[in-house]
Amino acid sequence: MNTAHNIYIHVPFCISKCKYCAFYSSAVAPDWESYCNGICYEIDFWAEKLGKIKIPTVFFGGGTPSLMPINIFQRIITHLGNKFNLSGCSEITLESNPGTLTNDKLHDFISCGINRLSIGVQSFDDTELKFLGRKHDAKTAINLVENAQKSGIRTSADFIYGLPNHSVKNVISLCNKINDLGLKHASLYELTIEPNTPFGRMNLDMPNNDEMADMYLAISDNLKIPRYEISNYAEPGFECMHNKNIWDGNAYIGLGHGAMGRIFMNNTWYEQSGGDIKFSELNDQVRATERVITGLRTVQGIKLDNEIKNVVDINYINIHNDLVKLKDNRIYATDAGMLILDELLVNLIK
Ligand code: SF4
Repeated sequence: MNTAHNIYIHVPFCISKCKYCAFYSSAVAPDWESYCNGICYEIDFWAEKLGKIKIPTVFFGGGTPSLMPINIFQRIITHLGNKFNLSGCSEITLESNPGTLTNDKLHDFISCGINRLSIGVQSFDDTELKFLGRKHDAKTAINLVENAQKSGIRTSADFIYGLPNHSVKNVISLCNKINDLGLKHASLYELTIEPNTPFGRMNLDMPNNDEMADMYLAISDNLKIPRYEISNYAEPGFECMHNKNIWDGNAYIGLGHGAMGRIFMNNTWYEQSGGDIKFSELNDQVRATERVITGLRTVQGIKLDNEIKNVVDINYINIHNDLVKLKDNRIYATDAGMLILDELLVNLIK
C-alpha cells in the first residue's frame, strides 16, 4: 500500500479581486459542473496510481471555496470517499470569505463534512477593508466568526497587518480584538506588495523593515494564542493539521488549476501540479532543501536527519546561533531568525 497523502483542492474563483492579491484566482463566475468533473477526473487519476490510500486531511483553498454550491462540494467529498480511504481523515477545512457564507450554507457545509472553517477577515476596520479591496465589512466578518464558533467547528481567521501608516499600536489593537473574539487559531500576514497587482502599481508609502519587525514582535507579545509557524498562531491542539503535515514534509496531492502537490510513489518523490495533471521526479537535493524551507517556518523546526545534513551548513548554525539553533537533533529558527527567515535560509542552505 502506498503512503498516506493529504489532499489540497484549489477553488480559484472569487467575487472580485482584492487589490493586493497575486494568487491564481479569477473573478469570473465558473461553470461549477465542469470544475467538479475536472476535480473528479484528477481524483480518478491519482487513485489509479496510488490505490485506496489513507487521506489524513482535506483542505479546500482558494480563491473563495465558500462560493462553491453545496451539491458540488458534496459530489467532490463523496468521490474522494469512494476512491480513497477517508476513514481516518481528521480534518476537512474550507476557506471562506465573509458575505459568501450564510448561516444556513455554513451548516450545509458542516453536514457534508467540513470540521474546520478558515475565514478571510483581514481587518476589523471598514476603511481598511475598502482600501484592501475587500467586499465585506467588519460586522459581517465578526458575525461569520461567531456563527462558526457557535456551530462547534474549529474556526480560524486570517488578518493582514503592516498597511501604510500602520504601527505597533494598530497591531496591538488587532491582537486585542482577536483575543476578545476567543479565536483558537489565527493567521496574521504582513502586507507584501506584489508587482502585478493594483497595489504594485500604486507607489504606496509602506512601513519600513524595522517598523514591520516591531509589528511582528508585537503580535507574540499581545496575542493570547502562541505562534506555531511564522504567520500562524493557535491554542495547542488547534493547529491546522493539513498545513502542519505539509510543513513537516508529508505527501499531498494538489487538485484543480493552480494547485501543487508532492507525491510519494514507489519510494520516489514527485512534484505535481493540478488541473492539467503534470508530475516529475524531485531529486534528493531539491526535496531536502524544500523540507528545510518549510520546516524552518515552524517553531518546532526540522529534524537533522541524513537528508537534511546534506543540504545545510552546520558551521553557519554554530556561528549564528542567535538566529538558528541546533538542539536535541533539531534545527529551528529563533525569534530573531524568524524575522529574517528568507535571508537566513539563503545562508543556511549549501
Ligand atoms: S479573496 Fe483571496 S484569493 Fe480572492 S482575490 Fe481576495 S485575496 Fe485573492
